[in-house]
Amino acid sequence: MRGNPDAVIVGSGPNGLAAAVTLAAAGLRVQVIEGAPTIGGGCRTEELTLPGFRHDVCSAGHPLALASPFFQRFDLPARGVQFARPQIEFANPLDGGRAAIVSRSVAETAARLGDDGRSYQRLMGPLTRHLDQILPALLEPLRRPPEHPFALAEYGLRAILPTSLLVRRWRSPEARAILAGASAHAMMPLTAVPTGGIGLMLVMLAHGVGWPVVAGGSARITDAMADAIVTAGGSIETGRWVESLDDLSSASAVLLDTSPRTLTALAGDRLPYWYRAGLRIFRYGPGVCKVDFALSGPVPWTNEDCRRAGTLHLGGTFEQTAAAEAEVAAGKHPQDPYVLVMQPGVADPSRAPAGRQTLWTYCHVPAGSDVDMTDRIEAQIERFAPGFRDLVLARAVRTAAGEEAHNPNYVGGDIGVGLQTLRQTVFRPVISWNPYRTPIRGLYLCSSATPPIPGVHGRCGELAALTALRDIFGIREVPDISPSRLRPSATAGTAP
Ligand SMILES: Cc1cc2nc3c(=O)[nH]c(=O)nc-3n(C[C@H](O)[C@H](O)[C@H](O)COP(=O)(O)OP(=O)(O)OC[C@H]3O[C@@H](n4cnc5c(N)ncnc54)[C@H](O)[C@@H]3O)c2cc1C
Repeated sequence: MRGNPDAVIVGSGPNGLAAAVTLAAAGLRVQVIEGAPTIGGGCRTEELTLPGFRHDVCSAGHPLALASPFFQRFDLPARGVQFARPQIEFANPLDGGRAAIVSRSVAETAARLGDDGRSYQRLMGPLTRHLDQILPALLEPLRRPPEHPFALAEYGLRAILPTSLLVRRWRSPEARAILAGASAHAMMPLTAVPTGGIGLMLVMLAHGVGWPVVAGGSARITDAMADAIVTAGGSIETGRWVESLDDLSSASAVLLDTSPRTLTALAGDRLPYWYRAGLRIFRYGPGVCKVDFALSGPVPWTNEDCRRAGTLHLGGTFEQTAAAEAEVAAGKHPQDPYVLVMQPGVADPSRAPAGRQTLWTYCHVPAGSDVDMTDRIEAQIERFAPGFRDLVLARAVRTAAGEEAHNPNYVGGDIGVGLQTLRQTVFRPVISWNPYRTPIRGLYLCSSATPPIPGVHGRCGELAALTALRDIFGIREVPDISPSRLRPSATAGTAP
């Protein structure tokens, strides 16, 4: 890029790129600087184990990308990004070959829950029907009165409860396990608020839009955004870690796709004391230990329906999952951890050579842990799929400490960049009317440490960019990010 950019974005995760897309669509000259050798942050795909086995390095399941108003306007399918849908959205195997099975249909899911089926349908039916009214409010910072207060109240009155109270309406291990498995994504004890809200939102998404993977891997989302930025004249530089704001070209706006800790390090004394103090008390959550497998064939789940599920929650019953999450919160490594598993091959055969499979797994561990949990993860899989170990061709392990070494946003291995307590869900990273703005004029935070929630939806980046457009460039209208304005290049979206 010749001359100085209008805006510099530090970090090329989905939020950094969403910010750059938004600013480029407004006609600004944008420069993205990424420290890692490749772009994408938590949205990348690599051959982590063996040639021909393409693993999602971080995010793999994309209900949020599918439902996100940002990505809907960006129009991923028109840019060659296809969502691949498993027949079963997620499953929670139980001992003895039983399993909780969640499909797109609320009625079909309820029909498998015996006496709890009617109550499941009474809860999830209306929430799923009103997803279009509820979700936009959940993907916004809580600043304005919601457009659909009654639909939101229907969700909010339940979401405020911890999972341990919400599951009391059910007796069957299956119904209780559905909510336990979804809520444990929150990485908090299931007795804590708002685990129920997080679990309900994920189940609503499973019924309302599905939990797809991306055909070819999550990196396709990253590539589509990068392509739009470069086609609009923006530049993207990799392999350059920014250590101070002084390292950057002079630009009217700087957006940081970083953790609050990095924001403090980059801006130093330029931030007023009260703001730095606010960032200092920002709480990070536990970490994850991730293990990717190259397999010689599909996982032999005892329960046949589990073989068609894109995602599996291996925690056993509600009580067992709750116990494992409580141990992590107490700083321990559970013997029988709650393990999140994705088998993208059930929907997207392109991930591995013919007949082979990739398997994506992680479990929660105390912050900063360098314990390799491979044995315990494999034992949980063997518990529900005897013979699994015989299929393993290769493994790639990243401990929680390794997650942080690989991406400094994941402080202590916390992939959510901040504990999802009620306070930190509403106010991220500090209590502020506009959480994207910092006290330094022209400096913004745009990572998942800001509202609405962690995940690949691009909203943190987009909302930060809209704030910068208003504050610095006097642009109030939302830029058109559709392919008619930000064209894909002729080569974007072609098959690998
Ligand atoms: C193991 C794992 C599994 C996940 N699974 C899912 C999932 O299935 N579905 C889902 O929706 N989400 C998932 N997530 C979460 C999702 O990936 C994140 O919420 C999302 O990537 C956050 O985007 P971001 O742009 O805010 O930050 P990131 O994606 O973390 O990107 C930040 C980028 O900034 C760069 N950076 C940081 N500091 C600097 C600096 N000083 N100089 C230069 N560059 C810098 C980093 O290298 C990184 O590339 C997962 C995350 C992980 C790690």
